[in-house]
Amino acid sequence: SEGRLLEIRIMGYGSGQLLLIARDITRVRQLEGMRKEFVANVSHELKTPLTVLQGYLEVMQSMAEPDNPNIRAMEQMQQQTNRMRSMVEQLLVLSRIEDADDLELNVKVNMALMMDILREEAMALAQEQYQVTLYCEPGLNMFGHELQLRSACSNLISNAIRYTEPGGSIEISWRKVAAGGEFCVIDSGEGIATQHISRLTERFYRVDSARSRQSGGTGLGLAITKHALNHHQSELQIASELGKGSRFSFVIPANLIEYKQPTPN
Ligand code: ADP
Repeated sequence: SEGRLLEIRIMGYGSGQLLLIARDITRVRQLEGMRKEFVANVSHELKTPLTVLQGYLEVMQSMAEPDNPNIRAMEQMQQQTNRMRSMVEQLLVLSRIEDADDLELNVKVNMALMMDILREEAMALAQEQYQVTLYCEPGLNMFGHELQLRSACSNLISNAIRYTEPGGSIEISWRKVAAGGEFCVIDSGEGIATQHISRLTERFYRVDSARSRQSGGTGLGLAITKHALNHHQSELQIASELGKGSRFSFVIPANLIEYKQPTPN
């Protein structure tokens, strides 16, 4: 009937017969829409009170004498409000990214330029405490949404640094591969046990929430990455070994890649 949403599955069934399964998903979609809208509204509404709190806190901190017994408490409050701010911001990013279904992938993104920005971000995060190497295949361009793609890459890089002890190494690369263009981040960090790997892109899923919180994580980074990659016909690949390190990568398919082999001079 009108206005209803059906999910139809066609399956092979015995000798040349087809089995058709139809499911009414109108209500499921409605609820999903309500959930997304609710999250977006709440996140948006939380921004103002947070800004006010942070403002007053800053004033209190700037006026506190060095022997004020509340200095430690104020620092804690500042840390926690900062954390709340990044969560609210990431929730907004996630809800925007989830909504952008019909994203047009027609903007040409120069990977070398993107890598320059990623390099700066990585260096700022690593603060000379990690051995960071970056490589970008020359002549690689891609059609897509520059900001979404960059946030997918940034999330993987910041995770690699946050879940690796200082002194470790992080390798970041964009390469031409047979199937398209591959972005890859390899770290020598703590690694992830197999049973967690398939769940990492769920919202708020964390292997160790205390540790993640301490590292400044919101539990939303990989959910955002997953959606950004979906829009580019791509999927996150994760390989990891506990205590040895992890490899997070994705391939942007060849139809979204332009590769001009540089001419030798
Ligand atoms: P968070 O903000 O908690 O880092 P993410 O969605 O970015 O949230 O990641 C989800 C979880 O995946 C993290 O809490 C962490 O347990 C795990 N994880 C992500 N990247 C790595 C990595 N490079 N090494 C080890 N664990 C990781």
